[in-house]
Amino acid sequence: MKCPFCKHDSTQVIDSRVSDAGDSIRRRRRCESCNKRFTTYETVELRMPQVAKQDGSRTEFDMQKLRTGFMRALHKRPVPTALVEEAISAITQNLLAMGEREVPARRIGEMVMRELYRLDEVAYIRFASVYRSFQGVDDFQDAIKEVQKPVQNSAKGLAPSAAKAPASAKKQ
Ligand SMILES: [Zn+2]
Repeated sequence: MKCPFCKHDSTQVIDSRVSDAGDSIRRRRRCESCNKRFTTYETVELRMPQVAKQDGSRTEFDMQKLRTGFMRALHKRPVPTALVEEAISAITQNLLAMGEREVPARRIGEMVMRELYRLDEVAYIRFASVYRSFQGVDDFQDAIKEVQKPVQNSAKGLAPSAAKAPASAKKQ
């Protein structure tokens, strides 16, 4: 860290302390050349990725839009709001943990489908019908079969944090 006064390259940390909230570190530094003191702050950079749409355009990630998607699919379904919020939070955490600058909209859609699959079968089929733009009755029947087939490896009981495992495994 350069001295902001004399631009000397070498400064000494004389004190470090974590903020009360625990989300930043404050360091007192002393310039080894001019002896002046200054403070630096270190914080974690957590930024939601941009959403890359199929047409090549990008938009900011919109939590409200995600919530609206869930609400529409879950309209009049007996799913507690707390579980919906948990699902939204799981997706948000997954996106942050990916640490990517941008994420395809499709990928987020798949995350929503996975969460809906765990929450409510009807909502899952509703969402899938729009999302995968079902063309006919066959598509619905396939989706219903998907929901009805015995769940392998208790995928249904996966914790939200583990839910991204298949996607990352595929990448390697
Ligand atoms: Zn200096």
